[in-house]
Amino acid sequence: MLQVSTVEEMRRALDRAAGTVGLVPTMGYLHAGHMALVKRARSENDKVVVTIFVNPTQFGPQEDFAQYPQDPERDLRMLAQAGVDYVFTPSVSEMYAEGFSTHVLVDGISDKLEGAFRPGHFRGVTTVVSMLFNIIPADRAYFGHKDVQQVVVVKKMARDLHFRHEIVVVPTVRDADGLALSSRNVSLTPEDRNSALVLSRSLFLASDLYERGERDPETIRFAMMALLNAEPRVKLDYVAICDAQTLEELDRIEGRTVVALAARVGPVRLIDNVVLGEQRGYGDEQMHVSASRLPA
Ligand code: AMP
Repeated sequence: MLQVSTVEEMRRALDRAAGTVGLVPTMGYLHAGHMALVKRARSENDKVVVTIFVNPTQFGPQEDFAQYPQDPERDLRMLAQAGVDYVFTPSVSEMYAEGFSTHVLVDGISDKLEGAFRPGHFRGVTTVVSMLFNIIPADRAYFGHKDVQQVVVVKKMARDLHFRHEIVVVPTVRDADGLALSSRNVSLTPEDRNSALVLSRSLFLASDLYERGERDPETIRFAMMALLNAEPRVKLDYVAICDAQTLEELDRIEGRTVVALAARVGPVRLIDNVVLGEQRGYGDEQMHVSASRLPA
């Protein structure tokens, strides 16, 4: 596995590489969710590039950029074991030269949901992803469904700007008890982690209600809120029931529908989602909150 930290070295390495290339962009502090993307990329391409870059422009001034967890040595060990060919670990100054002033923004969708609570977040994401796409002209780029809005925004950007990369979406990986894996989970106290389980539980409840035939978003949201509000450590930002392609909120559930939420638990902000009628990720069997256990 070759680790490179400059754009120049990354380009030179890929110039010499033959066959198809899969790209997995990450912010490091890797877990099984990231590794599911790497595994999928490994199985579908001749060469796999993983990038590790904590991108400052996607964090707001009050957010956790300075505290974002890092363990580069462990990350490199995991990636070498997974058979990755190249790891790109640029510095902030390598990516953002002095006086940097160019941005990529996907209008509209970037302002909804996460964008409403994290102004500028998606502008930072699409700017850095377009840089990575320019540096690494891969055939496929792998993103996790855990960040569903990121997937929608990046797909739109890739289409609008004619990037060659096919965007491949990998299902959310969960802990056995249902919590969606996130690098930020390391900052949860045991109490906070326990409280945070209500997030996946409420999403699984939404899935159960859907499976039982419920198609009214308000009924589903109401049932979810009853669970979420019973957990005082969890400060909800939003619960959205929306079209999976556009993320427009729905009056009636008909096509492929995503239920997405965001909440703060202690100092940590977490997001999660499910697609109604589809697999929920690992751990769902253990954390099945049956709608039949709720009052009618
Ligand atoms: P991050 O390092 O958090 O920016 O994540 C890098 C990539 O891994 C993104 O495409 C995420 O959506 C994906 N990812 C993060 N957590 C998970 C998870 N639990 N399951 C699947 N993919 C994930």
